[in-house]
Amino acid sequence: MIAEAPPAWNLFKQIFAEHWNGFTRVHPRYQTPYYDGLVDKMLRCGDPEKIGYIEYGCLQCGEGKHRGAMSCKSALCLRCAKVYVDNWVSQVSQMLHAGVIYRHIVLTMPAMLRPTFYQQSKALLSPFMRCGVRCLDDVFSRVSGKDLKGGYIVVIQTHGRNGQYNPHLHFIATSGGWDHKGQQWIHLDYIPYAMLRKKWQWHLLTMLRQTVKTNAINRLVDACYTRYREGFVTNVQKGDVPSRYQSLATYLAKYVVSPPISLRRIDRYDGQRVAYHYRSHKSERVERETVDVYTFIGRMIQHVFPKGFQRVRYYGVQATKTFEKIKYMIQEALATVKGIVKGAIKIIAPMTYRQRYRQSTGRDPLRCPHCHSDMGVWRIWHPTYGVIYDELEAIRRGKYASQAPRADPARSPGRTLRATSGGIPLLLSGLR
Ligand SMILES: [Zn+2]
Ligand SMILES: [Zn+2]
Repeated sequence: MIAEAPPAWNLFKQIFAEHWNGFTRVHPRYQTPYYDGLVDKMLRCGDPEKIGYIEYGCLQCGEGKHRGAMSCKSALCLRCAKVYVDNWVSQVSQMLHAGVIYRHIVLTMPAMLRPTFYQQSKALLSPFMRCGVRCLDDVFSRVSGKDLKGGYIVVIQTHGRNGQYNPHLHFIATSGGWDHKGQQWIHLDYIPYAMLRKKWQWHLLTMLRQTVKTNAINRLVDACYTRYREGFVTNVQKGDVPSRYQSLATYLAKYVVSPPISLRRIDRYDGQRVAYHYRSHKSERVERETVDVYTFIGRMIQHVFPKGFQRVRYYGVQATKTFEKIKYMIQEALATVKGIVKGAIKIIAPMTYRQRYRQSTGRDPLRCPHCHSDMGVWRIWHPTYGVIYDELEAIRRGKYASQAPRADPARSPGRTLRATSGGIPLLLSGLR
């Protein structure tokens, strides 16, 4: 559930409500139940009567009530983006290991390849991620002279800052790899940039040629080698990423999983044109853009991945089981490397609905405004399944009646509940 909708939310919904059908007629690629479903869910998001709700009630005094609308969790929904980012940060933080040095590496592709990736995203996106892994293993092995396997958390990103299609890979990579033959961890102080660029070009173009076997692709690949003699653009973050796991994951989340255009950046919509702004990496300035409404919808929807696509993946020793096996050897090997900060990983738990609500409004939604005790789940309603849970029904059926009072010094042995509808006081014990 989401606490509160940001101000431009209604504008965003209005754009899709008014133009989605027209847009799909012009772009039949998106005329599928999958995309229709995402848009439909997004339009209902946050409306309790349409998407469902969880109602909390005060079981002490029976007066307090709070209703939170369920969220759609659609990849398209900017309102749900924050929850998505929070969960992502939490998930990635848990996959980073104490005492291990990671690097942030970005692998990109030149503009002339992007249309191919856009048109064949279903066939190309997974091989794209895998060939990035092969490339880094290749570089690590070449530099060390040993057959190394690194550990990688890979996130695929399809948009640049202004929302245009620009697929690239973010790697959180170990600073070295596992030498299976020698049963040892090899740490690499640096990555030779020039080699990485050329290797990346070779791995990406080879994958492309082998996946899309057409003459047009062969010509495109050849053109890429002629035009980019130094290889493709790769960025390696300068220096190590020490044990600031939390900030690493948070920092990455900003670039990696945040939506193409955040709600705060939509400035105007007049029914036909949308004005928005973004901060450009190139100019380091805020850039403004006004596009027609179909272009805007296109920029938002093109970043929705094919159904079931996993955009965060773990490879090599980063896959949990392998890591557990060799973790201590890695940590031992790295303990001798100068400058490592040894520290516990800070695991960030995803925020609960209650915390998010409190953060955005300053109010605790689950505290009864009358008697100030915590409220419990009172009723859950879903548009398809109807009432999923009803506390009053549960009480009527004897949820609490058969339970003997528990010896719990922190709680009073019995509590009084006045049901708001019936007004019958009930003695409750063992209520959580
Ligand atoms: Zn109360
Ligand atoms: Zn939503």
